[in-house]
Amino acid sequence: MAKLVEKYIEIAAQKNPGEPEFLQTVEEVLTSIEPVLEAHPEYVKAGLIERLIEPERGISFRVPWVDDNGVVQVNRGYRYEFNSAIGPYKGGLRFAPNVCPSIIKFLGFEQIFKNSLTGLPIGGGKGGADFDPNGKSDGEIMRFCQSFMSELFRHIGAQTDVPAGDLGVGAREIGYMFGQYKKLVNRYEGVLTGKGLSYGGLSGRTEATGYGIVFFAREMLKANGEELAGKTVVVSGFGNVSWGTVKKLNQLGAKVITISGPDGYIYDPDGVTAGEKEDFLLELRSSGKNICAPYAEKFPGATFYPGEKPWGVKADLYIPCATQNEIHMADAEKMVANGCKFLCEGSNMPTKNEAVAYLQANGVIVGPSKAANAGGVACSCIEMGQNAGHTVFSPDQVYEQLETIMVNIHKNAAEASQKYGLGYDLVKGANIAGFEKVAQAMMAQGIV
Ligand code: GLU
Repeated sequence: MAKLVEKYIEIAAQKNPGEPEFLQTVEEVLTSIEPVLEAHPEYVKAGLIERLIEPERGISFRVPWVDDNGVVQVNRGYRYEFNSAIGPYKGGLRFAPNVCPSIIKFLGFEQIFKNSLTGLPIGGGKGGADFDPNGKSDGEIMRFCQSFMSELFRHIGAQTDVPAGDLGVGAREIGYMFGQYKKLVNRYEGVLTGKGLSYGGLSGRTEATGYGIVFFAREMLKANGEELAGKTVVVSGFGNVSWGTVKKLNQLGAKVITISGPDGYIYDPDGVTAGEKEDFLLELRSSGKNICAPYAEKFPGATFYPGEKPWGVKADLYIPCATQNEIHMADAEKMVANGCKFLCEGSNMPTKNEAVAYLQANGVIVGPSKAANAGGVACSCIEMGQNAGHTVFSPDQVYEQLETIMVNIHKNAAEASQKYGLGYDLVKGANIAGFEKVAQAMMAQGIV
């Protein structure tokens, strides 16, 4: 069976040259599901894996817009509609200068299994553009979003494909895209999630990803006889996901000692505490400068380490929340040397495959992002339900569902790993649990 998985990985490599991030996740997922393929030869016969690694549809399009100086700018937009076996394509839009097919396809492929793990009826997709929102005026952001949606609208819909935010796409961008979509199709429908509360958004969606990550971390610790209260935590990033994570960690009595940005990291031995410090993350984000250094100017107890990542700081728990491939082998070595016991991935695929293997071989419990950060997209699906039912859910209704979903994801990943004799391996377990449901649905629907 190992040979067979190697063959699939080889097919992916041949068909997707120059796409390292996509091939990284394909390899990670396929290696994990080897025992499932062994137990189900019918999946192999049905060409299920060849079909799974090929997006159902990929769209690339021109996004022209005019900047504040009257100069025409052209970006490239994407939407990869990866898999609709269990529901309409669902996944965010990322606006960042490094966006390319490899990044969108890795995110789209991950989304298939993440969305399946939520237990909700959503397929996998992802999109975005090589547009850098940092330093752009509000008018430029609006014109870009309108131009982007002027093409994307014909490919999406509440029953077809429902985008949301990701890096560089927050409530403001979703608002501008929703306005343009509604104008073009003349229909008020829940085509995007992460909307503002005044026009169909879900209470708690902004916090959902971070809160869900912390619920998942709590379950990981609990399964290993430990609790969150009193633990020190290294968090990276300072955006929406980091903010929600810090907030919930504070509520549950843990102490966050770092945040980070592309410019370096902040070490705050007194903790990024609730209130002023926590709220300052929002200010940093909305400044549009994409730097975290001002935190140390505002709070003198903290130190800024330019150009460095926080992985050498000693802590009980590590939660990367910035972007993909933040943790390389050298970082993993530092973490192990510092006695790290738990890594709970907040951002999508923050750890290199070889670093995950090294951490696990050294007894670190790893919570994979596709399980740990699934609370965001789970709440997106609740938002879809709210819109389809022409109703409004209260924050308490949302948080209760979110917590239950995260507890179940942890349980299902742990059980799937047990079932295949892999012990408590959440990385493999999450891939298996996510895959099983999608595979069953694909088998039932024939060769499509
Ligand atoms: N971008 C988020 C993710 O990586 C959310 C996607 C969504 O809500 O559709 O899961």
